Amino acid sequence: MTKKIGIFGGTFNPIHLGHLRSAIELRDGFGLDAVYLIPSASPPHKGTAELAPARDRMEMVRQAIKGHAGLRVSDIELKRQGPSFTIDTVCAFRKHLSEDAWLYLIMGLDAFLEIETWKSYQDLLHIIPLIVINRPDHQGRLKPSVSNAVSTLLEHSTLQGYECSMDTPCFTHCEKQPIFVYNVTAMEISSTRIREMIRHSQAIDFLVPETVRTYIQAKGLYQ
Ligand code: ATP
Repeated sequence: MTKKIGIFGGTFNPIHLGHLRSAIELRDGFGLDAVYLIPSASPPHKGTAELAPARDRMEMVRQAIKGHAGLRVSDIELKRQGPSFTIDTVCAFRKHLSEDAWLYLIMGLDAFLEIETWKSYQDLLHIIPLIVINRPDHQGRLKPSVSNAVSTLLEHSTLQGYECSMDTPCFTHCEKQPIFVYNVTAMEISSTRIREMIRHSQAIDFLVPETVRTYIQAKGLYQ
C-alpha cells in the first residue's frame, strides 16, 4: 500500500510540545503513516550562539517520541557536512523510500513566510508538496487564518501562479506541487522562550516532555 510520509525539519533546540502536538495532529488529521522529525545539524537561518550539540538535540527528539506510533526521528542531516539545506534533505530522503511513497514537507507558517530565502526554493516547490501549519506569533496572536497568510505571500512574491482550492484547503499550480494548509491546535511555545526560561531558572514543566526536561537538566543545557 502507498505510504504517506511527512518530513518535519527543525532545529529542535529543544523539541517542545508545539512541535510534538503538531506532528500528532498531522499524523491523524492528514492520514500520514509516519512523521519524520529531522533535527538540523547546522541550521542555515539560525545563529549558533545558543545551539545545543546536534547529538543532544537528536537524543531529545528520540526520547520525546518514544512510544508514539508513527513518529520517527532521522539523523540524515547529522550525517552531512556543511549547512543543512532542506532541498538536500528532501532529495536524500526520497532515495531511502520506496518509489510509490508520497512525501510531504511540513513547516510552520513562520518558516513558510521565509521560504524565498531558502536554497533552491523554487526547485523544492517542484519536487515536494508542502503542508503549512498555523503558529501563533511571539505575542500569542494567530494570523487571521493560515490560508490568508499563505495566500498573501503567494500573490505578492516570486511564488505567483497558484490557485486556491477551497475544499481541501490547498493551493495548486500547473507546474509545482500543491501547498496544503492545515490547522493544528495553536500552542504559543517556542524553543527561544524555553531557553530563555532556563537561563532565568524558571520551570519548563509542561512545555516539553518530562524526559526532555530531565535530559536538559542532567546535561546542563541552555544555562
Ligand atoms: P526557535 O525559537 O529556536 O526559533 P522554534 O520553536 O521556532 O525554535 P524550530 O525547531 O525552529 O522551533 O521549528 C521547527 C518547525 O516547527 C518550524 O517549521 C516551525 O515553524 C514549527 N514550529 C515550531 N514551534 C511551533 C509551534 N508552537 N506550533 C506550530 N509549529 C511550530
